Amino acid sequence: MITIDGSFGEGGGQIIRTSLALSLITGQAVRIYNVRARRDKPGLQRQHLTAVNAAAEIGAAQVEGAQVGAREFEFRPGRTKAGAYTFDIGTAGSTTLVLQTVLPPLMIADEPSLLTLRGGTHNVHAPPYEFLAQTFLPLVSRMGPRLAIELVRYGFYPPGGGQLNVFIEPTQLARLDLRTRGAFSNQRARALVVKLPPQIAERELSIVREQLGWTDEQLRIETSNNALSPGNVLTLEFESAQVKEIITGMGERGVRAETVAERACAEARQYLAHDAPVGEHLADQLLIPFALAGGGSYTTGPLSLHTTTNIEIIKKFLPIEISTQASTSGTWLIEVQRREL
Ligand code: ATP
Repeated sequence: MITIDGSFGEGGGQIIRTSLALSLITGQAVRIYNVRARRDKPGLQRQHLTAVNAAAEIGAAQVEGAQVGAREFEFRPGRTKAGAYTFDIGTAGSTTLVLQTVLPPLMIADEPSLLTLRGGTHNVHAPPYEFLAQTFLPLVSRMGPRLAIELVRYGFYPPGGGQLNVFIEPTQLARLDLRTRGAFSNQRARALVVKLPPQIAERELSIVREQLGWTDEQLRIETSNNALSPGNVLTLEFESAQVKEIITGMGERGVRAETVAERACAEARQYLAHDAPVGEHLADQLLIPFALAGGGSYTTGPLSLHTTTNIEIIKKFLPIEISTQASTSGTWLIEVQRREL
């Protein structure tokens, strides 16, 4: 059994999701203690528990001690079975983080899967639907598996009620190298308002126009009523030869539209400050697929704690070396390769 200290590094939910995914893939049981010790509300919260239960369901696992608030639990996987699954997170818990848990084992399984995920589709501190649809899944698809995602309904905090459908046709993963960004072929912003006045979107886009110097042709407003509750998402898209990077400003009750846009523009400026193709969030999320491919490399900006933590967790499960090397221009090269036995 592999034992993981959940207070390590980032000390949050990602340690749980990576451990569950790799436990299913390797068949190794895992015990996690100090679960989410670095969070204000430590222990398993509903959303993490849903990920544990989803992993247990696809992998016929035995689970001990997993309940809301638990600081420690054990997960003993059986055999992962592809198929049709519905995971209902309830409330606005992130559907995309549950997907982060079950996608790795299902994309290398024997058969295709069809997932119905209900809950939040746009949560702070989680990949939004657009990031998965346009940034992450297209890259993983280039490594082999056929992956498709459909947004049936938006789900925002607090009631959730959104739905994503995900189709997974597995294959062995092939290595990918994403070292140079090159020129952007497209840079665009979309301000989405769901059950909210378009003025919110206009205010956000005027900040983008001002701070990023983008023209009206690069800015668009989208309106929708397809959700239980109001929501607002600002999406900044940077398309280059290999990657379409999506940076998100998530509207929140009590946060001014201008602030939402300024935060997104600040993150965009960080991405533009270097010439690496892989942005901060993509950097931690590519690690599992690259490790499963047994090789690959990418350049990114300054390493987040999510990335360095994920590297250490992955190395506990897989015979993989992951090196990180800084360049003088402030970018980092991440290289994944099989460990020589
Ligand atoms: P906790 O509540 O313990 O913080 P969590 O389950 O909410 O945990 P984290 O450990 O913070 O999750 O991990 C969040 C994941 O969501 C990371 O993989 C991160 O890269 C991703 N993520 C966060 N924000 C974005 C974003 N704007 N775009 C894409 N991915 C994102």
